Amino acid sequence: MSKCNKHIQSIADYIDGELDPDLCSEIEEHLKDCKNCRLMVDTLRQTVILCKDGEREELPASLSSKLNEAIKRRWQKKFGKS
Ligand SMILES: [Zn+2]
Repeated sequence: MSKCNKHIQSIADYIDGELDPDLCSEIEEHLKDCKNCRLMVDTLRQTVILCKDGEREELPASLSSKLNEAIKRRWQKKFGKS
């Protein structure tokens, strides 16, 4: 378990593709016999992919500010003036 904790930050970097090759192979070794970390990598990877997709489909500025306005209005309605 403590080994997993040690690897968590490295795993995040590993997914970003920003990990030292040395550490990278260390992680891959660990992933081979650690189901928990494999699961975490899968989950994080999906999250990263979702985030990157979101970036690619960026809203046009006009639409984005309209959306912001709408959210702000709804927020103020619900919680009063901020
Ligand atoms: Zn692990």
